[in-house]
Amino acid sequence: MLKTKAQPITKDYPHLKELIENMFETMYKAKGVGIAAPQVGHSIRLFIVDGAPFDENEEVKNFKQVFINSQMVNEEGDKWKFNEGCLSIPGIREDVMRKREIELEFEDENFQKHRKVFTGTVARIIQHEYDHIEGVLFTDRISAMRRRLLKNSLLNISKGEVEVDYKMRFPVMK
Ligand SMILES: [Zn+2]
Repeated sequence: MLKTKAQPITKDYPHLKELIENMFETMYKAKGVGIAAPQVGHSIRLFIVDGAPFDENEEVKNFKQVFINSQMVNEEGDKWKFNEGCLSIPGIREDVMRKREIELEFEDENFQKHRKVFTGTVARIIQHEYDHIEGVLFTDRISAMRRRLLKNSLLNISKGEVEVDYKMRFPVMK
């Protein structure tokens, strides 16, 4: 599912409110700053962000948002490096290059439409989560050489040979 492009939803998506609440709970428990529905078994265009752990940066710290049916309108600016991790790929962190500014169309939890520009770390978190609803992982965005070096670790994760303090489902079970 993590490699599949996720589908848009309407207000009628079953148990949406509970799903969003559960996603916040899972994200906080795992000490993440974002989580996308495909990471918790729903192939839908929903992700949430809460930058609270970035407590040295006022803007990021106070950024909390539910994103539904997001569409990337534009990405621009210099590419910059940021060390990314992912709750679905535990124990691996890699520098990823992404553009500094994005413009995004999305709906909030009340299905109110927004079109907004985000920059810097907030844009970065959104770009990572947006990738999840497009079926892209941050390890798809690193060099072939880095990916080769990670090959065994990634294979071990897919087999469930990894220690995490939150619940995971694995694509390859022995
Ligand atoms: Zn992720």
